[in-house]
Amino acid sequence: MKLTDIPFFKQVVIMATNCDICGYRTNEVKTGGGIEPKGLHIEINVTGIDDFSRDVLKSETCSLLIPELDLEVGPAALGGRFSTVEGILTAMRDQIISGGGMFGDSADAHLKERFQMFFKDMDKVIRGEKHVTLVLDDPAGNSYVQSLTPPTPDDGLKITHYERTFDQNEELGLNDIKVENYEES
Ligand SMILES: [Zn+2]
Repeated sequence: MKLTDIPFFKQVVIMATNCDICGYRTNEVKTGGGIEPKGLHIEINVTGIDDFSRDVLKSETCSLLIPELDLEVGPAALGGRFSTVEGILTAMRDQIISGGGMFGDSADAHLKERFQMFFKDMDKVIRGEKHVTLVLDDPAGNSYVQSLTPPTPDDGLKITHYERTFDQNEELGLNDIKVENYEES
């Protein structure tokens, strides 16, 4: 367990497990310092392997999307991770594979075909042959993508801060806190 300072961002706790016997490895990231005042939406323009080495911190409340592939991975599926664009893309593909074990012989042929097309596209993305947008959406605002021109964001990044909806505040448990304060006053 290690407290790590990410330049131009903040401190995070990285929890890593390495098994000496079987070689199993995990790492999970927890962002400290609570919830940011606004939600965060980051679009990364992934044009090829040059964009793969950017550091990405995906918090435990952050969803991942690739609009070009009609793909969305919810926050819980990958948990909190400190990785690179390449690592995140690979993890997204592996997540779909492990969730796709339900395709037996009886599975809908049309659905199977759709998944095969999807994997073909995803492999192209991972080889840097297909141009896509990797979107991070974090209502808690605790995610981060490395800029290639720090401290200002570069042309390959589009960063938007937004007001959370009531439902998003509800999911983060923020509405309850307000109600308690009103009762006290
Ligand atoms: Zn082991």
